[in-house]
This record gives sequence, C-alpha cells and structure tokens, in this order.
Amino acid sequence: MPKLDETHDPSRHSWVKSANDGTTDFPIQNLPLGVFRNGAGGARGGVAIGDHILDLAAVLKANLLTGDAKVAAEAASGPTLNPLMALGNRYASALRREFSNLLRADNSERAKLEAMADTLLVPMAKAQMQLPAAVGAFTDFMVSIYHTERAGRASRPDNPIPPNFKYLPIAYNSRASSVRVSGEPVKRPNGQFKNGEAIEFGPCRWLDFELEVGVFVGPGNALGTPIAIDQAPDQIFGYCLLNDWSARDIQRWEMMPLGPFLSKSLSTTISPWVITADALKPFAVPAFKRPAGDPAPLPYLYSAADQAEGGLDIDLEVHLSTAKMRAAGAAPARVTATNTKHLYWNPAQLVTHHASNGCNLQPGDILATGTVSGPTDESRACLIELNDRGATKIPLPGGETRTFLEDGDEVAFSGRAARDGYVSIGFGECSARIDPAPAWPGAQKG
Ligand code: CA
Repeated sequence: MPKLDETHDPSRHSWVKSANDGTTDFPIQNLPLGVFRNGAGGARGGVAIGDHILDLAAVLKANLLTGDAKVAAEAASGPTLNPLMALGNRYASALRREFSNLLRADNSERAKLEAMADTLLVPMAKAQMQLPAAVGAFTDFMVSIYHTERAGRASRPDNPIPPNFKYLPIAYNSRASSVRVSGEPVKRPNGQFKNGEAIEFGPCRWLDFELEVGVFVGPGNALGTPIAIDQAPDQIFGYCLLNDWSARDIQRWEMMPLGPFLSKSLSTTISPWVITADALKPFAVPAFKRPAGDPAPLPYLYSAADQAEGGLDIDLEVHLSTAKMRAAGAAPARVTATNTKHLYWNPAQLVTHHASNGCNLQPGDILATGTVSGPTDESRACLIELNDRGATKIPLPGGETRTFLEDGDEVAFSGRAARDGYVSIGFGECSARIDPAPAWPGAQKG
C-alpha cells in the first residue's frame, strides 16, 4: 500500500458532525476538492466535509493557513482547480494535511473554529456545484477486458478481443467541450443511423450510459517528454465518476474505420468532487492479475511498484429511475454493481501510455477508464451489455422495462471505497436526466 499519514487515521473525527455519521461520502478522511457557487458569490474552490463545503476563499480570508497549504488554497480558490492541479501533488497533500487538522474534533482551537463556522462552511444544499476544472482534453480509454469482450462479440464473435488489447490501453480522443457537471440534463442527440437497410437521420433510438472513472491530470508534461511508469502517480491529481453517454445506433453506423465521433461527443457527465490521489491511497490494490498465457506488459508499462499497488478497489453502482417510477414514489433501481479492480490496465499505465509518444498532457485533462464492466452479469456497466446487444429487456419496478434510455429517465452513478481498518469514502453523485431531442432547426412543427 502507498505510504499513509495522519489524514488517513480511522480514529480521526471532525467537529463538523455530519462528517462522522458513518454513511456520508465525505468523512474527514476524504476531503475532496470541487468548485461551487452560492447566492451572489462567484464560482470558487471548496472542500467537502459531511454535508457542508469548506469555502477556500473564506479560509484564506480568515488567515488560517501557512506555507504550501496556503499556496495551494490560493491556487484552488478561483473558478477552476487547474492552477492547483498544475502545482503538483505536494501542494494538494499539504492542503489536505492542513484541512484535516483544522477540521478534526480534537483540534485545540476547535472552539474558535466552530465560532467561525458560519463564514467558513456552506451547506451543500445551498450550493450549486460547477465543473471542477477547465477540461482541455478528454481521452476515453477502453480498458475493461469484460466490456471489450462483450462489445466485440457483435462484430467479431469468434475473436472478440482485438489483438492489441493486451498490449496497450486502447483509447481515442473524445470531446472536452461537452463535459458537464452532474445534474445538468442531457439532450437526446439527433444523428445518422441505419434502420434496416435505410440510412436515416433523427433522434437517437439507442441511447446508453457508460459507467467510467475519470482521472484528472496534474502538472502534465512538456511536448516530446514521456512520463515513466513510476513517475505517473505524480501526474494523477484525482478521480471522478464519469458517464460517457453513448448513442449506440449512431456509433454503429459511423465508427468504422476511424472510431466513434458524434455518438460520444453529445455530452459527458462527471461528478463534481475530485477525490484526490491521497484520499484513495488506502484503497490501492495490485495491478490486474493477468490470466496465464496473457503477455506481460511491455517494460515501459511495467514496474514493480505499479504491479504491487497500481490498481484501485472502488465499488461502483448505477441506479436508473423513469419518470413513471418517480411519479409513483418508487426508489431508483440498481442496474449495475461493479468495481475498478476489474480493469485490465490501471491509471498509471494510462498516463504513461498516453504520453509515450511525447504527447503533452495538461492540468485538468481527463483520462477516462472506459466502461468498468466486470465478469459477472450484475457488473455489466452499460445497457448494450445489460440488454445483450439489444436482444433483451431490463425489468424495472412497477412493470416497466428498458432496452435503451427513454426521455425522462435519470441515470445516477455512485462510487465508494472501503477496506477493513479504514474509513470508507465516497464520490458523491454523478447523475443526469434525459431530455427529448431538440426539434431540428427550421423544421415544420407537426
Ligand atoms: Ca466510453
């Protein structure tokens, strides 16, 4: 396991009581960073603690920080976290240690801090979360062998895993401008698809979600300068949940031979809180254990440290609710339960491979894992797997079924890391509702 410090101490509690209830995603051991607004105030950085946000600008104004932590808070107190990401993880680590100390229940200055709570803390219920970073680039990988195998059966039934999969983490450059924060509705896209033998244009009929984890890049690398596998962790600022909405009918028609385009760039939803690399240290696991006969990673993607602790153990779930379910007061239905330890390639390997040709990664870039499907039926992490490539219907409470998403459906992702002897931490929510496709500009109304 990577080196831990006092911020991971399971006996540490906070004077912010909601952080200690055992169920919150945001105990004092988590301390994720995000960007929020409330009232008339501008967008600014904050740290989640229980059901509150510690306002970085207010903490700075109260002069509660010194040294690297102060530099870090200044970098993170504006409308994006990119300046903090650019500084390198030493600064985010200093901020984490300082906030863990400020917020701990046994802080000797607790009474003074509690007296300032109204200025330092903003209730989450009164805040509007923003995108945590200006995302300059969004790269979508495809590193679950289970997802790749199920997806590949359609076009290559005898040999569904592409020959390169076990040698390199497959990826394509997706679209950064349409990355949006949880809660913003997603419009069903219009697009071109094959309907029987006809080629048609209109609202997507096969809209899907993909449950993924996003990796936020830290300082990045200069063009032409690769990142060694053991330096890759220094380039990982943190993680979010990511829904890579996918228009399967558009994708199937457009993707040969250059890969997906409009079927993926319609929108991508991410969770607002960035779970730092530090916070996830207790949940490191060994790299994916390759079955006998699989090739070892080439040397540039292999190191003893990465093999020992390069994987992550994060439980992930997808819940689906329809407009009818919500009207009936029914709870969202869980359709997927999976874990990041099923990923064949791990985050450090993605970073190293991405920069191996000298490509420059930049602060705030997102590298997504691809659909985090596992080996079991319940761990299928998108509808095209759950519905057996369109062949079966997924039953929902109240008698409804789904093959693909319908207007009014809401998809919510959650993520939680747990390990005996440590305090469990969560990712907060990544959710969005599907709105109808926009009327085509200039089209006659029916
Ligand atoms: Ca994807």
